[in-house]
Amino acid sequence: MKVTMDQVVAIDYILTVDGQIIDQSEPGEPLHYLHGAQNIIPGLEKALANKVVGDSFFVSVPPEEGYGIYDPENVQKVSQSDFDDDIEIGETYFAENEDGSIYPFRILKVEGDDVWVDFNPELAGKTLNFEVTVCAIREATEDEMIHGHPHVSDEHSDH
Ligand code: ZN
Repeated sequence: MKVTMDQVVAIDYILTVDGQIIDQSEPGEPLHYLHGAQNIIPGLEKALANKVVGDSFFVSVPPEEGYGIYDPENVQKVSQSDFDDDIEIGETYFAENEDGSIYPFRILKVEGDDVWVDFNPELAGKTLNFEVTVCAIREATEDEMIHGHPHVSDEHSDH
């Protein structure tokens, strides 16, 4: 069985950026995703196509196929009075869009009442180096295809 559309795939992975491990699956707890549903970044999903269980590989994903290129226009100046809480440089905070969606941003610097915030994803502009092993592949259920994500025991128990 090869990784193709509408399959639930379990992978072990290690993500290295700029020579540092920044994320990895826990032993025995692979990441499950629905192939073709954009659950994972495009470059990684593309590299997984047609792989089989037991395949281990390394893929270097450029920013364009990862978290996007770094856009300087996503850095904006806001007023310190817009914040309810104390702010800390380098910390990630969350704001709510008019449509109710939540998006993260980071504090770059504070000058008096001016706060410079960065709405770029933290990994924008970065090349993502993945070491991946395919642990399991199965057909997705109808529910999973409708929801666009895998249902793994004890995850998504609310629906
Ligand atoms: Zn669901």
